[in-house]
Amino acid sequence: MSQENLKEGTGILFLEPVFKKMVWGGERMGEEFHYELPSDHIGECWGISAHPHGDCIVREGYYKGKKLSELWAEQPQLFGNYKAEGFPLLIKIIDAKQDLSIQVHPDDAYAKVEENGSLGKTECWYVVDCGEDAGLVIGHNADSKEQMREMIEKGQWKEFLRELPVHKGDFIQIDPGTVHAIKGGLMILETQQSSDITYRLYDYGRLVDGKPRELHLAKSMDVITVPAKDVSSSVKSTLGLPENTMNVLEANQYYTVWKIDVKKEFSLEQGYPFMNMSVIEGDGMINGQKIKKGDHFVVPSGFGKVELQGDLCLIASAAGAR
Ligand code: ZN
Repeated sequence: MSQENLKEGTGILFLEPVFKKMVWGGERMGEEFHYELPSDHIGECWGISAHPHGDCIVREGYYKGKKLSELWAEQPQLFGNYKAEGFPLLIKIIDAKQDLSIQVHPDDAYAKVEENGSLGKTECWYVVDCGEDAGLVIGHNADSKEQMREMIEKGQWKEFLRELPVHKGDFIQIDPGTVHAIKGGLMILETQQSSDITYRLYDYGRLVDGKPRELHLAKSMDVITVPAKDVSSSVKSTLGLPENTMNVLEANQYYTVWKIDVKKEFSLEQGYPFMNMSVIEGDGMINGQKIKKGDHFVVPSGFGKVELQGDLCLIASAAGAR
């Protein structure tokens, strides 16, 4: 059965992204990724997702029109019969025209108890583009839980929040419990656990449709890690990584993320249950099929040799412990 299916087309699952309108979103994804955006203020493009809030549809080939969640349920061999309740990862591009709210995510253990059995959320960011003076909020400056509570309760955000400079090509791993926010002007590719559990700590006093958005102070204070991870292990530059190599940016129990800069030709053996790929720069071919900036696809189990050609930058990921 699976062999038959793989003979159809290339067997690669090219997906239609799902777009999300956000108060802080912009129009850049239409211009830079050549997407046809359904409206203005598009903040997120869910490129690879089977989450019920945005379930991507296969764009072409044998499974054209199928939702990723349907394939996960009906064709588990495509994903190497990977053991998880649903497709475990979610890949997004985020265009922040304005600052996002200050947030923190719970881990699996906390979410299971407090969020009806949901998964927690571990995520990571690759900075696709940003302005010269760009920064992100990552971590905080409190030394103890008591100090954290005091700073939050008194609204001492300037003192509490740790803003770090970032540049194009930086990579940031956000463990659960890490206070974080994407600031205006940043374009980011996010790889995350497929979960939507976010606690909003501070929203700059903004009003949306005349009302402030809900905050989750008690849960935030429960889950924030104190003290925060140090600055040097929070932001890593990927500049100067070798071309035509699988450069590991992060490997943890939920995902491994790679950056692949293809110059002319590069091939790899797809030995994982499945591999997600997003083209963030350039254009070229994959096993004889054209690909370009903005394409997102899943290379299924048993695909074998992935042959990439052209001038491409890809962010790839595989699920599970390494
Ligand atoms: Zn987050």
